[in-house]
Amino acid sequence: MRVAVPKETDAGERRVALVPDAAGRLASSGFTIAVERGAGAAAGFADGEYGTAGAEVVDRGELLHGADAVVRVGRPSPAEVAELQPGAVLIGFLSPLTDPEGIERLAASGVVAFAMESIPRITRAQSMDALSSQSTVAGYKAAILAADRLPRLFPLLMTAAGTVAPAKVLVLGAGVAGLQAIATARRLGAVVSGFDVRPAVREQVESLGAVFLDLGVEGAETAGGYAVELDAEQQARQQAALEERIPDFDVVITTALIPGRPAPRLIPAAAVERMRPGSVIVDLAAEAGGNCELTEPGAEVNRSGIVLIGLTDLPSRMAYHASQLYSRNVSALLQHLAPGGELALDFEDEITAGACVSRGQASA
Ligand code: NAD
Repeated sequence: MRVAVPKETDAGERRVALVPDAAGRLASSGFTIAVERGAGAAAGFADGEYGTAGAEVVDRGELLHGADAVVRVGRPSPAEVAELQPGAVLIGFLSPLTDPEGIERLAASGVVAFAMESIPRITRAQSMDALSSQSTVAGYKAAILAADRLPRLFPLLMTAAGTVAPAKVLVLGAGVAGLQAIATARRLGAVVSGFDVRPAVREQVESLGAVFLDLGVEGAETAGGYAVELDAEQQARQQAALEERIPDFDVVITTALIPGRPAPRLIPAAAVERMRPGSVIVDLAAEAGGNCELTEPGAEVNRSGIVLIGLTDLPSRMAYHASQLYSRNVSALLQHLAPGGELALDFEDEITAGACVSRGQASA
């Protein structure tokens, strides 16, 4: 199987779908890997490293010619889709729940597409779970950004010049990103509280040395471990409880998401207005509309002295390790779909069927 790795095309995307090490492993297990010149540069991987690892480094014009599979981070442009041969495999974050047109375009071109977001969250597929690997990076970066923007120190310091009280950090939504944000803020010395609507999370929050904030709101959990959306009455209660508690915190990191739905509104504008000047909110749900009413997705803004970070590209800002982890996820999926480099799609298999968003000619 010939696998092409394009240079990402979304503005500001620094990650690459396969790093040299992963490309080398695939090359030695039966795949031919062709990497677009410069594809890894923004993540810190030089063309020469790919060559040494056993991949071909090619110009854009030659990349897709004869490719049996294309692995990328973000969605391909319509022009790139048009270049793919029918039956070619495409792997990437394809936004199947929010970009139905893009998926239709792939189906119409006969592309067999696998969305990294759609990999089932089952034990057997853990090595392919790119949502988790990238959320881990985002949670870490969120805590680091908050520490950087806050005009206060995170840790307790006792110095000859006086004692500095530790920063108080609240993390809303304690899934993969939230737990990593809690762990990172704790390592920096902050006093951390966490909240999630899934009751099972309390123990995980506490095991990281954080306090579970009791807001008197509890939601249900799906069989897959995701939160069920709160009803209107519960949402209003959560907002009111948060409005009261939020002014106590210097930093709020929000990560609350419901798959395929707009992000739950947790922090009303009134709660932001009650925070101390210099406080920081990092809204990791910005891409889905944001957990905070005042978040501007993709931007960092200052509202009456409160810094609101709605950046949507945090994994890309840690491109080296985000790419390394993503590569492992992509490699595991490739090995699953094409053991030893021979495509063998089994749509009876839970992972293959679950991740596939366009069966191309196979569905005809
Ligand atoms: P996510 O990104 O969809 O959501 C983030 C968090 O927001 C979740 O913990 C959710 O409960 C929470 N949330 C939703 N609405 C909220 C609200 N109104 N207020 C506060 N919090 C709210 O979730 P995720 O991080 O992708 O993970 C969700 C679950 O999946 C976790 O239980 C995780 O352990 C599980 N998981 C399992 C596997 C596996 O078994 N392979 C892999 C990864 C994650």
